[in-house]
Amino acid sequence: MGRVYNFSAGPAVLPEPVLKRAAEEMLDYGGSGMSVMEMSHRSKDFEAILDAAEADLRDLMGIPGNYRVLFLQGGGSTQFAMVPMNLMRNRTADYIVTGQWSKKAAAEARLFGSVNVAASSEAQNFSCVPSFSSLAISPEADYVYLCQNETVHGTTIRQLPDTKGKPLVADVSSMFLSEPVDVAQYGLLYAGVQKNAGPAGVTVVIIRDELIREDVLPGTPTMLRYKTHADARSLYNTPPCYIIYICGLVFRWIKETGGLAAMKERNERKAALLYDFLDNSRLFRGTVRKQDRSLMNVPFVTGDPATRREQSASALDAKFVAEAEAAGLRNLKGHRSVGGMRASLYNAMPYEGVAALVEFMARFEKENV
Ligand SMILES: *Cc1c(COP(=O)(O)O)cnc(C)c1O
Repeated sequence: MGRVYNFSAGPAVLPEPVLKRAAEEMLDYGGSGMSVMEMSHRSKDFEAILDAAEADLRDLMGIPGNYRVLFLQGGGSTQFAMVPMNLMRNRTADYIVTGQWSKKAAAEARLFGSVNVAASSEAQNFSCVPSFSSLAISPEADYVYLCQNETVHGTTIRQLPDTKGKPLVADVSSMFLSEPVDVAQYGLLYAGVQKNAGPAGVTVVIIRDELIREDVLPGTPTMLRYKTHADARSLYNTPPCYIIYICGLVFRWIKETGGLAAMKERNERKAALLYDFLDNSRLFRGTVRKQDRSLMNVPFVTGDPATRREQSASALDAKFVAEAEAAGLRNLKGHRSVGGMRASLYNAMPYEGVAALVEFMARFEKENV
């Protein structure tokens, strides 16, 4: 069987040229006579891979010289603790809660200090981004935290809040490298790469120099200090070498296909195709307020909630997912916490994949309305 269209939220589709290149280099990387998997992380070959990955990422994102790039382990979830352990000197932080991931991050931060929820869309079931116009930033807050693209609910924060001079910390996991970004607006941003930039196993942290400090919370383990990894250039211990290598190939692929501006244009075209269909469908509808819709994760449901019974709607959702699966459109089931469907349209999802999905949805609609 050939390749399917994989709409998974993560781990997710990777660019085919990257997978092919990795396959070609599997047994013998660049004449070294070994796979990248078999290399010492202290070898010249691997150091060149790491240096190139960082250089390409800096180039792609225009990362200013006063920011460090760290390739860490432990997933996005470990950052939920590392951020407060390293930055919460006054034991206070402000969190903007727009979905499951920022809610989890806020809960983890409460282990270390006092967390003010400066804004939340929980009362709206996380179907929108709250207004930041009267954001109550605590004078003693060490930082302001948000998740810029909530993967489960499909919302994106388009306009960053005014943090009144506090460092902004952002989880950008599911929108990493999907569009141009002004790194200077953030104190720290991070991304688990398995959403849009590589296989599971690396979290990229981009952090402003002055936030890398010795005076972290007492008891912070060596491995959980940003300074440890910044001082050792991500080689304090054995990093996930192979994943870094694949990320490097993805960074190179993005550069070769036009960079972040071109990515954004393609991502907007793909998302527009699906959202336009949803907005005109008699069966399907999106679940997010229009201006807050994510280009990356598109949640949707069948039916009109006012006229259908929950039971039959979820049965219809299940039927849709099963038939789509059989048609080679994979991983469209919504997150287990919210149900319905979700199509993730990351960088590596081709326009043709979204077109195939929309065509399938139109056919399903005809057969089921
Ligand atoms: C997936 C995800 C996480 C959690 O990542 P893990 O690597 O599984 O810990 C955190 N934040 C966002 C926005 C995510 O999409």
